[in-house]
Amino acid sequence: MDFELSEENRIFREAIREFAQREIAPLVEEAEASHTFPIQLFKKMGDQGFLCPRYPLELGGGGGDKITECIMVEELCRINPGIASGLMVQSGLATAPIYRFGSEEQKEKFLIPAIKGEKIGAFGLTEPDVGSDAAAIKTKAVRDGDSYAINGTKMFITNGPICDYVIVAAYTDPSRRGEGINLFIVEKGTPGFTVSRKLNKVGNWSAETGELVFEDCRVPAKNMIGEKEGGGFAQLADTLVSGRITYGARSIGTAQAAYDLTAQYAKERVQFGKPISKFQINRFRLAEMAMYVDIMRSYTYRVAWMYDQGKKVRKESSMVKLFTSEILQKILADAMQIHGGYGYMMEYPIQRYWRDGRLFTVTEGTSEIQHLVIANELGL
Ligand SMILES: Cc1cc2nc3c(=O)[nH]c(=O)nc-3n(C[C@H](O)[C@H](O)[C@H](O)COP(=O)(O)OP(=O)(O)OC[C@H]3O[C@@H](n4cnc5c(N)ncnc54)[C@H](O)[C@@H]3O)c2cc1C
Repeated sequence: MDFELSEENRIFREAIREFAQREIAPLVEEAEASHTFPIQLFKKMGDQGFLCPRYPLELGGGGGDKITECIMVEELCRINPGIASGLMVQSGLATAPIYRFGSEEQKEKFLIPAIKGEKIGAFGLTEPDVGSDAAAIKTKAVRDGDSYAINGTKMFITNGPICDYVIVAAYTDPSRRGEGINLFIVEKGTPGFTVSRKLNKVGNWSAETGELVFEDCRVPAKNMIGEKEGGGFAQLADTLVSGRITYGARSIGTAQAAYDLTAQYAKERVQFGKPISKFQINRFRLAEMAMYVDIMRSYTYRVAWMYDQGKKVRKESSMVKLFTSEILQKILADAMQIHGGYGYMMEYPIQRYWRDGRLFTVTEGTSEIQHLVIANELGL
């Protein structure tokens, strides 16, 4: 067994850490205050192969693997989970279906520009009335000659307000629950596609989230991902298995930042004549936080490694998502408690990680849905 990162991965971690400090950290306050994503980052990261690090070099990616992608997300979340989420969608949900199942033409037109940061992608599955029960989506795509007419509404879409294209899940055959779904690439500017509103969120302010409406929106038939009608549900499942591993890295980076901020605060804050880090309860809490971060990291990277080996990790990726996002809630609650009243003040950064991380038990499959997947995979 070898628990060390490879030489390439270590070099990548140093490079992305340095990039995040230099290029992203200075943008955080403005992005958070204005609730806008600093879109220049797409191109900046794309130019260096940082944006989609696991895709091959010949497509403009970093030539890495799933572990590389996890390192990227972990390092970016330490700096700002909101900005990281917009970039994480680009490296995963908004590109993976095209990479895995798209045509050569779709790769040329959408995937390569997205990997290079020249086009911003989004991924639209959730609807106003449909979240966890993904097979119940109401959006439909009806074939008409060389195009499909898409009708429906997509809710809570990360990068929706700033995207150049969105991958939309829609039924081509509503009579086949789940099986009759396909994924379509819809370009910004296509008549009938509008961003009806940008949503105000509790956290992740520097990521832009929107509601997207499709009204008789005609997309060329060649924008359907996959060669035949149906089969989109399997493409979604494939995309989510990978995404849930990356999600572990999202929780690790957020947890590491919370630990770092809290350990530093506890050493500096003095009560009863000594730093509060010297009180046993805080020492123990900090010790537990560090222990959890280490376990989160070990497990997530192990499953990322399994994924890279081509192993089937449907169960394990849900375990990563469930475990890391739930433990993160405890870490964040303890971090806030150790910060006392200052933790509740906006000028202290810990509140941002607390607000941002609260989301993580909800998106890309709630904790309850992860339990269901794991139980199903166990044959229970
Ligand atoms: C900030 C943000 C960004 C997002 N980005 C995207 C995006 O880019 N693309 C996208 O498609 N979606 C996105 N989402 C949507 C997200 O994936 C959904 O919110 C999530 O899947 C849950 O769906 P829901 O909110 O409709 O909750 P619901 O499905 O209505 O669930 C409500 C509660 O009921 C529980 N529940 C539901 N079914 C069961 C069951 N069978 N057994 C036990 N409990 C159950 C859930 O676990 C949850 O606790 C985003 C959401 C947010 C908030």
